[in-house]
Amino acid sequence: MSGRKSERGPIVVSACLLGRPCRFDGKDKFTPELAFLLEGRNVTAVCPEELGGLGTPRAACQLQNGDGTDVLEGNARVISVDGIDRTQAFLSGATAALEHALAAGAREAILKESSPSCGVTRVYRDGALQSGQGVFAALLSRHGIRVTEETRTKGPKKVNRVPPRKTR
Ligand code: SF4
Repeated sequence: MSGRKSERGPIVVSACLLGRPCRFDGKDKFTPELAFLLEGRNVTAVCPEELGGLGTPRAACQLQNGDGTDVLEGNARVISVDGIDRTQAFLSGATAALEHALAAGAREAILKESSPSCGVTRVYRDGALQSGQGVFAALLSRHGIRVTEETRTKGPKKVNRVPPRKTR
């Protein structure tokens, strides 16, 4: 992705990247370059973990025995640091977020790298950062929505925190 603004269609974005404090630790991951790139676009911001009913703050989770694709196929799990199986919450949250994406007509998404939901090329899996996708990223990919990690965004950093028009 270049640093120039795009005039393309609707897009889904991880809500924490746009300043929503929805991460497991109650913080956000506001990314000024991304906010700049998205100015003027029809943005649907989603947090699949909150949509799955997991509160904020919440215990961090990681994948076990596979990545998000494996979770979708029933061959891997999502486990919290306190040992609770959160697989069903991750699946239901990813499904709810997908529905928002489809309703918006989005064909692309920019997601927070390394998250067990939103990771695009890397996820924490079995105690280490490994290649693979999070559950939501894998579900979007399965439905033909192109996913890009936020680390690929570049551009000016001096922008204000402008809330997205839609936040789920
Ligand atoms: Fe951000 Fe995705 Fe984690 Fe929600 S689930 S806090 S949107 S990375």
